[in-house]
Amino acid sequence: MTEPLIVVVSGPGGVGKSTIVGRLVQRDPRLWLSRSWTTRDRRQGEPDDAYVFVDRESFERRVAAGGFLEWTEFLGNLYGTPDPEAPAGCDIVLEIEVDGAQQVKRRHPGALMLFVLPPTRSEQEVRLHRRGDPEHKVAERLRKAEEEEPVGRAIADHVIVNSDLDATVDAMLDLIHRARRSRAVG
Ligand code: 5GP
Repeated sequence: MTEPLIVVVSGPGGVGKSTIVGRLVQRDPRLWLSRSWTTRDRRQGEPDDAYVFVDRESFERRVAAGGFLEWTEFLGNLYGTPDPEAPAGCDIVLEIEVDGAQQVKRRHPGALMLFVLPPTRSEQEVRLHRRGDPEHKVAERLRKAEEEEPVGRAIADHVIVNSDLDATVDAMLDLIHRARRSRAVG
Protein backbone atom coordinates (compact mmCIF):
# COMPACT_ATOMS: atom_id res chain seq x y z
CA MET A 1 0.00 0.00 0.00
CA THR A 2 1.24 3.54 -0.68
CA GLU A 3 2.51 5.57 2.24
CA PRO A 4 0.00 8.14 3.52
CA LEU A 5 0.36 11.66 2.21
CA ILE A 6 1.52 14.03 4.95
CA VAL A 7 -0.12 17.45 4.77
CA VAL A 8 1.69 20.06 6.86
CA VAL A 9 -0.35 23.14 7.75
CA SER A 10 1.90 25.81 9.15
CA GLY A 11 1.67 29.53 9.74
CA PRO A 12 1.90 32.12 12.50
CA GLY A 13 -0.26 32.04 15.63
CA GLY A 14 -3.64 33.70 15.23
CA VAL A 15 -3.95 32.83 11.57
CA GLY A 16 -6.78 30.37 12.16
CA LYS A 17 -4.87 27.11 11.63
CA SER A 18 -6.82 25.07 14.19
CA THR A 19 -10.16 26.11 12.73
CA ILE A 20 -8.89 25.35 9.24
CA VAL A 21 -7.59 21.86 10.04
CA GLY A 22 -10.81 21.10 11.95
CA ARG A 23 -12.77 21.91 8.80
CA LEU A 24 -10.42 19.93 6.58
CA VAL A 25 -10.94 16.71 8.51
CA GLN A 26 -14.69 17.33 8.71
CA ARG A 27 -14.94 17.78 4.97
CA ASP A 28 -12.64 14.92 3.94
CA PRO A 29 -13.04 11.71 5.95
CA ARG A 30 -9.81 10.39 4.45
CA LEU A 31 -7.86 13.00 6.39
CA TRP A 32 -6.66 12.18 9.88
CA LEU A 33 -5.54 14.94 12.22
CA SER A 34 -2.53 14.18 14.38
CA ARG A 35 -2.80 15.28 18.01
CA SER A 36 0.37 16.91 19.30
CA TRP A 37 1.95 16.73 22.69
CA THR A 38 2.76 19.95 24.51
CA THR A 39 4.15 21.11 27.84
CA ARG A 40 2.14 24.36 27.59
CA ASP A 41 -0.69 24.88 30.08
CA ARG A 42 -4.18 24.47 28.72
CA ARG A 43 -5.81 27.82 27.89
CA GLN A 44 -9.09 28.71 29.51
CA GLY A 45 -11.87 27.36 27.34
CA GLU A 46 -9.50 25.20 25.29
CA PRO A 47 -10.82 21.66 24.79
CA ASP A 48 -9.11 18.90 26.81
CA ASP A 49 -8.20 17.08 23.64
CA ALA A 50 -6.67 20.06 21.82
CA TYR A 51 -3.32 18.51 22.78
CA VAL A 52 -1.97 15.76 24.91
CA PHE A 53 -0.95 18.05 27.79
CA VAL A 54 2.11 16.64 29.56
CA ASP A 55 4.86 17.77 31.91
CA ARG A 56 8.38 18.40 30.64
CA GLU A 57 9.71 15.18 32.06
CA SER A 58 7.18 13.00 30.21
CA PHE A 59 7.86 14.91 27.02
CA GLU A 60 11.62 14.50 27.36
CA ARG A 61 11.20 10.80 28.05
CA ARG A 62 9.36 10.41 24.78
CA VAL A 63 12.06 12.42 22.96
CA ALA A 64 14.72 10.10 24.40
CA ALA A 65 12.73 7.08 23.23
CA GLY A 66 12.62 8.51 19.70
CA GLY A 67 8.83 8.69 19.77
CA PHE A 68 8.33 11.94 17.86
CA LEU A 69 8.22 12.56 14.12
CA GLU A 70 9.33 16.10 14.96
CA TRP A 71 9.41 18.32 18.01
CA THR A 72 10.56 21.79 18.95
CA GLU A 73 10.60 24.46 21.61
CA PHE A 74 8.26 27.35 20.85
CA LEU A 75 8.15 30.41 23.15
CA GLY A 76 9.35 28.39 26.14
CA ASN A 77 7.17 25.30 25.68
CA LEU A 78 7.80 21.99 23.97
CA TYR A 79 5.53 20.78 21.16
CA GLY A 80 5.83 17.53 19.24
CA THR A 81 4.10 15.24 16.78
CA PRO A 82 4.05 11.64 18.03
CA ASP A 83 4.98 9.11 15.34
CA PRO A 84 1.69 9.11 13.44
CA GLU A 85 -0.61 6.12 13.54
CA ALA A 86 -3.25 7.05 11.01
CA PRO A 87 -6.00 4.55 10.28
CA ALA A 88 -5.37 2.52 7.10
CA GLY A 89 -6.17 4.45 3.95
CA CYS A 90 -6.03 7.87 5.63
CA ASP A 91 -3.70 10.75 4.91
CA ILE A 92 -2.17 12.71 7.76
CA VAL A 93 -2.65 16.38 8.65
CA LEU A 94 -0.15 18.11 10.93
CA GLU A 95 -0.78 21.58 12.32
CA ILE A 96 2.67 22.73 13.42
CA GLU A 97 5.03 25.73 13.48
CA VAL A 98 7.80 26.24 10.93
CA ASP A 99 10.73 24.60 12.70
CA GLY A 100 8.78 21.35 12.98
CA ALA A 101 7.59 21.78 9.40
CA GLN A 102 11.21 21.89 8.24
CA GLN A 103 11.97 18.68 10.13
CA VAL A 104 9.02 16.91 8.51
CA LYS A 105 10.09 18.13 5.06
CA ARG A 106 13.59 16.73 5.61
CA ARG A 107 12.27 13.32 6.68
CA HIS A 108 9.41 13.22 4.18
CA PRO A 109 10.30 15.24 1.08
CA GLY A 110 6.97 14.23 -0.50
CA ALA A 111 4.95 16.00 2.22
CA LEU A 112 2.58 18.71 1.02
CA MET A 113 3.64 21.96 2.69
CA LEU A 114 0.87 24.54 3.11
CA PHE A 115 1.69 27.87 4.73
CA VAL A 116 -1.19 30.05 5.90
CA LEU A 117 -0.89 33.80 6.40
CA PRO A 118 -3.31 36.29 7.97
CA PRO A 119 -4.79 38.94 5.66
CA THR A 120 -3.15 41.64 7.81
CA ARG A 121 -1.13 41.85 11.01
CA SER A 122 -3.95 43.72 12.70
CA GLU A 123 -6.42 40.95 11.85
CA GLN A 124 -3.98 38.47 13.37
CA GLU A 125 -3.68 40.61 16.49
CA VAL A 126 -7.46 40.71 16.85
CA ARG A 127 -7.62 36.90 16.60
CA LEU A 128 -4.87 36.45 19.19
CA HIS A 129 -6.71 38.74 21.61
CA ARG A 130 -10.00 37.00 20.91
CA ARG A 131 -8.68 33.65 22.09
CA GLY A 132 -7.74 35.18 25.41
CA ASP A 133 -3.97 35.56 25.22
CA PRO A 134 -2.72 38.32 27.57
CA GLU A 135 -1.14 41.44 26.03
CA HIS A 136 2.48 40.35 26.53
CA LYS A 137 1.77 36.96 24.93
CA VAL A 138 0.13 38.63 21.95
CA ALA A 139 3.17 40.87 21.46
CA GLU A 140 5.52 37.89 21.79
CA ARG A 141 3.55 35.85 19.26
CA LEU A 142 3.43 38.73 16.78
CA ARG A 143 7.22 39.06 17.01
CA LYS A 144 7.58 35.33 16.52
CA ALA A 145 5.25 35.50 13.49
CA GLU A 146 7.61 37.94 11.79
CA GLU A 147 10.50 35.54 12.26
CA GLU A 148 8.47 32.59 11.01
CA GLU A 149 7.12 34.13 7.83
CA PRO A 150 10.25 34.03 5.62
CA VAL A 151 11.06 30.47 6.73
CA GLY A 152 7.50 29.35 6.10
CA ARG A 153 7.42 30.93 2.67
CA ALA A 154 10.73 29.29 1.75
CA ILE A 155 9.60 25.75 2.52
CA ALA A 156 5.98 26.09 1.38
CA ASP A 157 4.60 24.40 -1.71
CA HIS A 158 1.71 26.86 -1.47
CA VAL A 159 1.10 30.05 0.50
CA ILE A 160 -2.57 30.72 1.32
CA VAL A 161 -3.86 34.01 2.70
CA ASN A 162 -6.74 33.23 5.05
CA SER A 163 -9.10 36.13 4.30
CA ASP A 164 -12.16 33.94 4.03
CA LEU A 165 -12.37 30.64 5.92
CA ASP A 166 -14.56 28.78 3.41
CA ALA A 167 -12.41 29.85 0.48
CA THR A 168 -9.24 28.85 2.35
CA VAL A 169 -10.60 25.40 3.18
CA ASP A 170 -11.81 24.88 -0.42
CA ALA A 171 -8.41 25.89 -1.80
CA MET A 172 -6.58 23.58 0.59
CA LEU A 173 -8.83 20.60 -0.16
CA ASP A 174 -8.24 21.20 -3.85
CA LEU A 175 -4.46 21.18 -3.31
CA ILE A 176 -4.71 17.98 -1.26
CA HIS A 177 -6.79 16.25 -3.96
CA ARG A 178 -4.29 17.32 -6.61
CA ALA A 179 -1.39 16.00 -4.53
CA ARG A 180 -3.16 12.65 -4.17
CA ARG A 181 -3.83 12.47 -7.89
CA SER A 182 -0.26 13.29 -8.83
CA ARG A 183 1.03 10.58 -6.46
CA ALA A 184 -1.40 8.09 -7.99
CA VAL A 185 -0.11 8.95 -11.48
CA GLY A 186 3.56 9.45 -10.68
P1 5GP B 1 -0.28 27.15 20.55
O1 5GP B 1 0.43 27.34 21.85
O2 5GP B 1 -0.80 28.45 20.00
O3 5GP B 1 -1.34 26.08 20.61
O4 5GP B 1 0.78 26.63 19.50
C1 5GP B 1 1.97 27.35 19.27
C2 5GP B 1 2.55 26.91 17.94
O5 5GP B 1 2.97 25.56 18.02
C3 5GP B 1 1.54 26.98 16.80
O6 5GP B 1 2.21 27.52 15.67
C4 5GP B 1 1.18 25.53 16.58
O7 5GP B 1 0.82 25.27 15.24
C5 5GP B 1 2.50 24.87 16.89
N1 5GP B 1 2.38 23.44 17.18
C6 5GP B 1 1.32 22.75 17.69
N2 5GP B 1 1.62 21.45 17.78
C7 5GP B 1 2.88 21.30 17.32
C8 5GP B 1 3.75 20.17 17.15
O8 5GP B 1 3.44 19.03 17.42
N3 5GP B 1 4.98 20.43 16.64
C9 5GP B 1 5.39 21.68 16.31
N4 5GP B 1 6.61 21.80 15.79
N5 5GP B 1 4.61 22.75 16.44
C10 5GP B 1 3.37 22.56 16.95
